[in-house]
Order: sequence, then structure tokens, then C-alpha cells
Amino acid sequence: MATLISLPGISLGEARIVDGNITIPARSKQRSVLCPCCNNLSKRIHSSYVRVLRDLSISTSCVSIHLTVRKFFCRNPECEKKIFTEQPGNEVKAYSRMTNRTRETLQNILLEVSARKGSYIANLISLPISPSTALRMIDALPIPPAEKVTVLGIDDWAYRKGLTYGTLLVNMETGKVIDLLIGRDGVSLKEWLAKHPEIKIVTRDRASAFSCAVSSTLPKAIQVADRFHLLQNFSDCVYSVIRIEYRNLANSMNENSIQVELPNDIPQEGTGKEPQKAKGERNEYIKLRFVKVKQMLKDGAGLKTVAKSLQISRNAVRRYSKVDVLPIKSIYHKYDYNEYLDIIAMGFSEGISFVKIYARMKDAGFKGSKSAFYCQFKDHPMRTKPAEYNPINIKLRLISPRKISKYLAFDDLSKIKDETDREIMEKLLNKSNTLEKIRQQVLTFKELLLGNDVLLLNDWMERTINIGISQLKSFVTGVKGDLEAVKNAIDTDWSNGQVEGQVNRLKSIKRQMYGRAGFELLRKKVILSKVG
Ligand SMILES: [Zn+2]
Repeated sequence: MATLISLPGISLGEARIVDGNITIPARSKQRSVLCPCCNNLSKRIHSSYVRVLRDLSISTSCVSIHLTVRKFFCRNPECEKKIFTEQPGNEVKAYSRMTNRTRETLQNILLEVSARKGSYIANLISLPISPSTALRMIDALPIPPAEKVTVLGIDDWAYRKGLTYGTLLVNMETGKVIDLLIGRDGVSLKEWLAKHPEIKIVTRDRASAFSCAVSSTLPKAIQVADRFHLLQNFSDCVYSVIRIEYRNLANSMNENSIQVELPNDIPQEGTGKEPQKAKGERNEYIKLRFVKVKQMLKDGAGLKTVAKSLQISRNAVRRYSKVDVLPIKSIYHKYDYNEYLDIIAMGFSEGISFVKIYARMKDAGFKGSKSAFYCQFKDHPMRTKPAEYNPINIKLRLISPRKISKYLAFDDLSKIKDETDREIMEKLLNKSNTLEKIRQQVLTFKELLLGNDVLLLNDWMERTINIGISQLKSFVTGVKGDLEAVKNAIDTDWSNGQVEGQVNRLKSIKRQMYGRAGFELLRKKVILSKVG
């Protein structure tokens, strides 16, 4: 057992098993000990006490080492320490209640999982710790000083989406995260860069805050706009164009397509008890009712009487009694359903449920809520009289703008797996000259960024402008504003792909901690975790 466990500098006694747990007495091997203050040897023992240290478990048994620790007199009259405690071996740290190897094992586990899960796993391997101890153990981990870095990758990430952001720094040569900074405005980045004059190349997305920080702090560093972001930005830009042009594209598919309009009068109240009245008339009725209720209450009538005589619910009367003005009924936010009418009409004609139609709309990029959609369409003629909206007439089961922009990046349409989607894409590209032009630009841009011929960039920018769509023009303007970095993106092999991977890793670590991680904890985990 003693050889199995063996702690350097410490001699172990006879192990005892009590209640399935192993207890081992231990003491230091040294006879004389150096004073930590003056380095003089001392043999004179002042006193001793027993420290209990947790060690790695054996099978399912917890192991505790009962280490007798001695206190010594320092005999050097010049030394300010009169008494000191020995620190035997290198496995035992002052004040710690476990051996170093136990702490390291636990810390390595805790770096990869949340404190709660870590505590659970530790219990399974007979090293019981509480979640709060787990947190403290991660807190105690030091972050090693940042290594030297030649090629730096920078990206932003959302700490609290839409509220606070951070900056992620990656050593592009090792692919490892070097640091996480608060904010993405370049302020913290500037401070950090100032400490790293060795950086030669910086890859970043087109955020100007980063480029400003780099050019002001490291004017000699070569800046590379990241290819991944460039492609992504252009594809977002194309998507926005298609979203706007979507209806026209749909119409171009089928000149005979019927226009499915939303009804003007969308029923707002779903009680169904009262006869349907025109909107204006109904509003008048409600106003009148409110006045009557108020009058009767003022005259001293009880809730019950008012409710009975006006034939409304007692709850309504109570509600009215508490307010001075008739509350405006909240109206569901009106989303733009135009883009999704085809999907909706198709769904109704197939007789499928709202939930399924809603799922299809979601896939196509719909942002509204299910209940809003339900309220808007439950009494819609498309649903109540589907025969009039025969799907044969709605030939354009048009694919979503998101899909169209995705397919535009396919160099060969035969790579589209879905047969109907492929047919529609072919038709669309045949009918719309502009769409075909956009597609050519998407494909050339991809080629351009994958290749290394910078000279093609000017030609590409000119052609993109010539399509005559304002969004595309402003994209080119953006590229022109960052021309050197974009050219470097084509010229050099550095790409932020790795950084992007690290942003995803960071997100998953953040999720592990249920999004409640403090910034410092998150920073530690991202920098120190080996698998996460
Ligand atoms: Zn001393």
C-alpha cells in the first residue's frame, strides 16, 4: 500500500480501514529542517500536530493521510521567526486539505464541467466536494502569463446577447485562446496589444473598432480581414436583398399566381359569444358599455346587479370599477406575413395543423410567435374556405429567402439535394436576370477569397456595383474602406476559422455554466480548459 500511494519526502505508516475508508498515518522523512525565513537548519522541535489530507481514492475508498507536522525553533538569533512549521515533500501545500495531486485531478475535472456537475463527478470517484468548494478551487487557479504571439486572431462574442460583448484573442499558430477581454469597443484591446509588441500579423473581422485599435497600437502589424467574416457578411447582404425582393421573385415564378391578401378585418376577440359586429361598431358598443357600468356603480349599484342588468360578467364589471378610463385592448404585434403566405396557404390546403405550419414558417425565417400567428389566421378565409385557395393555383411553393441565398453559393445547382428546391432555383435563375448576376458575384467572391489573385478584386467590386442594388453597393463601399486588409485576406493564408471555432467553444462553455458564469470564471475556463 505504501509503495502504491508513496508521497515524496513523507514516510507512511500502517494503513487502517475504518468504515470502508482508508486512513494512513504519515510523517516527514527529514530529521532537520530549513527555516523558510533565514535558511538555517534546525533540529529543535517545538511541538507537533496532525493534519488530515485527502488523497486520491483507492477503488471506492476515500483515502485520508494523517500527517504529523512538526514545528521547529529557529536558532538563528538574527531571524525574525522564532518558530516555524515544516512543509514536507512537494505534494503538500501549506493550509491545503488535500494533496497536490488530488487538487490537480479535481481542478482538471472542474475546468471541463460546471461546479455542480463537477461536484457530482467528484463524489462518484470518492473525492467528495461541494459545488461551492468546486467554485473556490477554480477561483484559486492562476492564469499563466500570456505567451508570446506572432499571429493574433481577434473576434467579438456576446457575453449577454445584445447587452454586453467581449473580445476573444487567439494565437493563430497554436490555435489556443490567449485571453478574453471585456467589451468589443477596442479599449481593452488597445491596452492588451500595448503589452505585445511582438505581434506581426492580426486577423480580425471588419469591425472598425478592432482595426483602429490595431493600427494605433501596432502600426507595423499587417492586418488581415477575415475571409470567413467577409463571406458571411456578403451572404448576409445577399440575404437582405432577397428578403426584400422575395415577393417579386415569387410573382416572377408564376404570373397567374393568385394574390392571397390578408383580410382587412382581423377579429381581435375570440369569445365567439357575441354576434360579429363591424370593428367600428363594436368599439362604440364597448365604450358605451363602459360608461353605463361606471354610471351604475356611481349610483350605488352592486357588481352583481350591474353585471346582470348589462348581461356582462362580474369580472368585467370589477375590472371596469378599478379604472377611470377604458383600457385599450392589447393588440397582437402585426408581423409581416406576406413572405410566408405561400407556406401558410399550402399548409391549410394540405390540412395540416397550425403547429406544423408554424414550424415550416420558422424554418423559413419567421420571427413571430405561434399564438400571434394563430390569432391572425384562425378565421382566415384561406383556412375556412381552402377550396378557393387550391394549391394547384399556388404553384409557387417558394423556398425561403434564407434557402435561396444559401443555394446561390452552390457552384453547381445539381448539388441541391431537394428536387423541388432545385427545380425552383433553376426556374428563378432563368426568370430573374438580377438573381443570376448576384449568384455569379457570390461565386466569384468565394473563388476570389480562396484563390490568391488580388487583381481580380477590382473587377469584382465593379461588377457588384453594376448590378445596381443599393445594399450590394454599400457592401462594396465597406470593402473599399478596408481595402488593404481585404487584399491581405486574399494574399495570405491566415483565416479566422480557428477563432470562430473558439467562439463556438466559448459559447458551449458558457452554456455549461447555464449562462451564469462571472466573467473571470469564464475567462479561466476558456483559457485553461483542455477539451471544452
Ligand atoms: Zn530562521
